Amino acid sequence: MRDRQRSSYRGRFAPSPTGDLHFGSLLAALGSWLCARRANGAWLVRIDDIDPPREVPGSAGSILRTLRVCGLEPDEPPWHQGTRAPAYEDALQRLRADGYAFPCRCSRSDLAANGGAHRGACVVPHDSGTAFARDPAWRVRVDDAVIVFEDGLQGLQRWPLAADGDFVVKRADGPFAYQLACAVDDAAQGITEVVRGADLLDSTPRQIFLMRLLGLREPAYLHLPVAVTAAGEKLSKSSGARAIDAHGPAPALRAALALLGIPAAALRQPSPRTLLRDALAAFEPAALPHARILAAPGFS
Ligand SMILES: [Zn+2]
Repeated sequence: MRDRQRSSYRGRFAPSPTGDLHFGSLLAALGSWLCARRANGAWLVRIDDIDPPREVPGSAGSILRTLRVCGLEPDEPPWHQGTRAPAYEDALQRLRADGYAFPCRCSRSDLAANGGAHRGACVVPHDSGTAFARDPAWRVRVDDAVIVFEDGLQGLQRWPLAADGDFVVKRADGPFAYQLACAVDDAAQGITEVVRGADLLDSTPRQIFLMRLLGLREPAYLHLPVAVTAAGEKLSKSSGARAIDAHGPAPALRAALALLGIPAAALRQPSPRTLLRDALAAFEPAALPHARILAAPGFS
């Protein structure tokens, strides 16, 4: 696989360092890895550490180690978004200069009358001369933008952005929003296809919108099913999903690969590396399940 010439495909896995790698994030990592490797492209890892209060110390290192144990080796050194604030600030200043970004001091309760959505003018004036104790948040106005895109698995998507209103790109307490950081870095890393969980499907239109405002190259998107418990609850760090066993990840790898449509006959190898090799040889994107959720019994 490695001796063939590398294609221009660039995929990525972008976990948040809010806990150890669990089955739900392993599914997304494997999905993006399989698509990248099948296209003979590059697969990158980006640590989404833009929200320090939510971070769990040591989890970025733990996630990277577990990926390695699973045989999922990125082709380039991982990016850490916590070091990328100057690039996000530059993007914010461009949005501001072009009249798309504006300072906002509206609170949730201020917006309650609009169903919680920010539409156009601020409810709380930010240039009234009043001394404010805090910096403002920065929002991007969406007007009547409708984002249409073809998802590789979920089909044609049509999202009117006005439904959720003008969205925050930099929070009042300092951190840049996920939507801005993700849009800027997917372009900066030259990502050609974003393969991730369908729980992020509703973020994609805002990221595409930002890329268009900033004149950045848009990747293609493919949203995989999200792993849920038998009770239908999404596997996540906050729901207490178990960490992948770094000393014996093969059972979790087999279960995740099976959910991604790999036939059982290709999942008999004992070690992660040989398991992935056979799974990749058997992988067919057309066999990926179209559902938005999939039960993952035994891994919650
Ligand atoms: Zn406002």
